[in-house]
Amino acid sequence: MNPKIFFLIFNITLIILACILFFKMNNDYGKVLTGDNWQAKQYGNKYIVSLNNRSEVVSTLTDFVKTQKINVGTISGLGAVNSATLRFFNPETKQYVDKTFNEQMEISNLIGNISTKDSNEYLHIHATFGNSEYKAIAGHLMSAIINGAAEFEIEAYPNAKVERKFDSEIGLNIYDFGAKK
Ligand code: FE
Repeated sequence: MNPKIFFLIFNITLIILACILFFKMNNDYGKVLTGDNWQAKQYGNKYIVSLNNRSEVVSTLTDFVKTQKINVGTISGLGAVNSATLRFFNPETKQYVDKTFNEQMEISNLIGNISTKDSNEYLHIHATFGNSEYKAIAGHLMSAIINGAAEFEIEAYPNAKVERKFDSEIGLNIYDFGAKK
């Protein structure tokens, strides 16, 4: 082959490869999703979820999980709220104690999991809130109203199944994998 033609083909190939690489590096493959009080970007089985200001965290995340048909997964997030209701379970009495905090707080950490109970999506969320005195309030999250940012990540486990069952001895809805005890 004529060396000039060889170098021409070589250079064109290099330019095409560079263009493909540039396109891949700059191509955001995230799919934009929207719903009631939330918007999200989907990257495979991972989602970046933003909740609208003044929305309620637990019901809005539940709506997201239901519309995306996520039966098993993990949740993490941060943001700010002006009200939060936390639940404490007393294992001795098997009684719940709920307490509402009406003040501006940072969601300094929120962690949760998604499973099903009676085949319905079941979100179990715990959260730590930091108040204006930099003190932490933490517990099982019943509800919270966003007042500021609301940035969550959800990872789904496609085709997974994790059911819960009420355990009368413990007094809670516990994972039931069907394993013999
Ligand atoms: Fe809990």
